[in-house]
Amino acid sequence: MIQDKTPPVIEFRSAALTYPGPPPVPALLPCDLTVRRGEYVTIVGPSGSGKSTFLNIAGLLDTPTDGTYLLDGIDTTRIKDKERTILRGSRIGFVFQAFHLLAHRSASENVELAMIYQRVPRSQRRARARTALLRVGLGHRLDALPTRLSGGERQRVAIARALVTDPSLLLCDEPTGNLDTATAESVLELLDQLHGDGATIVAITHDPQVAARGQRTVSIRDGRLTDTLAEQVTA
Ligand code: ADP
Repeated sequence: MIQDKTPPVIEFRSAALTYPGPPPVPALLPCDLTVRRGEYVTIVGPSGSGKSTFLNIAGLLDTPTDGTYLLDGIDTTRIKDKERTILRGSRIGFVFQAFHLLAHRSASENVELAMIYQRVPRSQRRARARTALLRVGLGHRLDALPTRLSGGERQRVAIARALVTDPSLLLCDEPTGNLDTATAESVLELLDQLHGDGATIVAITHDPQVAARGQRTVSIRDGRLTDTLAEQVTA
């Protein structure tokens, strides 16, 4: 068997975060978590359990107050803020519950904007946006404004925007939280498909049904992460 020598995408080593307060809030207790390339991991827990705190650390929006966090083998707790921002922009694609699309920009323009910060030449942006939108099943809605798109289509645009820069990690925050059941299912099927194509996905959710879609589910309660269901890796 060939050993995968590439470092894990996510590696938490006794990572913890206590909000300073007063009073101090230990929102994430020291935890170890490894997410390898190509895994689809869901983090499930009730409101107030620490999901956002975890997501903010994993997404380099916040740094642990204890322990370390390695992203693609890079110790993100030892680098400057500016480097962390660059790393976030180049290696992480975010998908939020509320889509966060610009209302007066077309689907394509919303996706193109993500590439400006990555210094993708203007001449390539439109074609890459088109490819990303085709990938999420929206090749026919390139010029549509978000107001003319359904909730599910808006989330697909957001997923295309997250993917267009080829991130190491797709980090999803309640990706179906704003969608009805049928639409949520189609977005979950899209995530399954992206995972099948090799994407590394981490999704946080309070919904056990969404969590069950992951290849592995990690639960969080009162700031404590527990790797509950490690799925058998298919050979
Ligand atoms: P979830 O996303 O699962 O709802 P959070 O990560 O937002 O949970 O919150 C975990 C705990 O940390 C909660 O007790 C919350 O009240 C607390 N918390 C979140 N943000 C802050 C903050 N900026 N300062 C102090 N406490 C916070």
